[in-house]
Amino acid sequence: MTENKKLKILYVASEVSPFAKTGGLADVAGSLPRSFAQMGHDIRVVMPRYKFISCRFDTIHDFPVMISGRKEAAIIREHRIELDHEDCRRTLPVYFVDNYQYFDRNNLYCYFDEVERFAFFCRAVLEMLPRIGFQPDIIHCNDWQTGPIPVLLKEQYSKNAFYRNTATLFTVHNLYYQGNYPKDCLRLLGLSDKYYHPERLEFFGDISFLKAGLVYSDIINTVSRTYAQEIQTPDYGERMDGLLRKRSDDLYGIVNGIDYDEFDPARDSLLAQNYDSNSVELKRNNKYALQKAMKLPEGDRPLLGLVSRLVDQKGLDLLVDIYDRLMADDIQVVVLGSGDKYYESFFKDMALRHPDKTAVHIGFNAPLAQQLYAGADMFLMPSRFEPCGLGQLISLRYGAIPIVRATGGLADTITDYDPGTHTGNGFIFKNYRSEELLTAVQSALDIYRGRPELWKELVRKATTEDFSWSASALEYVKLYHIALIKRLHYRRSITA
Ligand code: ADP
Repeated sequence: MTENKKLKILYVASEVSPFAKTGGLADVAGSLPRSFAQMGHDIRVVMPRYKFISCRFDTIHDFPVMISGRKEAAIIREHRIELDHEDCRRTLPVYFVDNYQYFDRNNLYCYFDEVERFAFFCRAVLEMLPRIGFQPDIIHCNDWQTGPIPVLLKEQYSKNAFYRNTATLFTVHNLYYQGNYPKDCLRLLGLSDKYYHPERLEFFGDISFLKAGLVYSDIINTVSRTYAQEIQTPDYGERMDGLLRKRSDDLYGIVNGIDYDEFDPARDSLLAQNYDSNSVELKRNNKYALQKAMKLPEGDRPLLGLVSRLVDQKGLDLLVDIYDRLMADDIQVVVLGSGDKYYESFFKDMALRHPDKTAVHIGFNAPLAQQLYAGADMFLMPSRFEPCGLGQLISLRYGAIPIVRATGGLADTITDYDPGTHTGNGFIFKNYRSEELLTAVQSALDIYRGRPELWKELVRKATTEDFSWSASALEYVKLYHIALIKRLHYRRSITA
């Protein structure tokens, strides 16, 4: 099979921007499939239909899905995204799997019946494809919510001629979230006790949806090269490192991109002031607008931004540690995020204690996030671990200089700024120590205050970096071809 062949790809994710988003997975699932469509592949996306999704769609199918020996209705809604690309016009179909009992709810995750909801979703996806007549070369699964698809496909559905040649790629966006449940959840998937085995789904006394994806998919990847290496070590492997080392020949790292049309300071209608690399000095008007909106005194003091899930992964304990020292300086910090109550309370307290210097918005607010990237001078991402990270890529695009710890995708995308050679695109620290974070922040502040002409050039260069999908989408296509070859070998091996 040549690499120029146009593929039929089904992209499966539990969240897809702009329909539903809690983090970076949605950004990737919203933008990578568009790149494939623009390359001419027949790509379709499927996700659950949560209650709040209100785009226009047609109801195209309605069928029963067996779950725990009973039938549950799957209703398939189809929405079409019109893509304008150069001279060709294409559409990208998005299928929503609907079921009132499982998905007619206000939030995406964290319900008591999580395991059943996503077991249902996975089976419904495989039941849907023959009905809609879409026979994919590749099913591209993402994170634990889609982990059962490769095992169901290999062990049950590939007996059906329709699926004989379908290969799977499983992408790990975050190894920390594993979907581990008690053994009896196997029956939700229609799998016997035989699968409660360390070589299969068993995982430290439970069964793991993530492990199902890791064991049974033809190829695995994660979202940066460094993270692909890190997760094969006990420190980052979340107890899956042994399995990942075993599959290391099939494990790849491809760094995420961002959608440069969606994240474009020159055209972003949410900004007080549009700007581009030739007019980065205008960016300061967005700082004033942000200060005003967040009730901070307006002015030119350096403004540090944080847009994040407020969870341990993001290295927030380092920030907590140095916060008093940061506040002793003439700076401002704007935080947007939600998550652990401890961090939410901490930042709310800081805003009360330092009303001229700290402003906080607890919650998920996509427009405010864009305004924050545009208004901030620096962007904080001191992560403990970071599979790829999109915050630093968006902040570069908007000229907010990232201050990051060198881990995972942060290590692959951000290099330390050297004022001597004027190389680098951010400020990095290596060890997970608050003193190192403080030093990195101070280095950034020193350049900002002491060498404004260098800072302006750093910002200008940041806005011109290319972290679009163009290179990474091509790498994914190569992986799809490798997966197809693996699939072929596997079929030969079981029929030999
Ligand atoms: P993760 O996927 O671990 O949450 P990423 O950096 O990969 O982290 O992606 C986070 C995405 O979610 C970015 O697009 C970021 O701007 C966005 N985001 C995170 N928290 C919020 C929030 N509270 N409001 C709006 N957008 C947010």
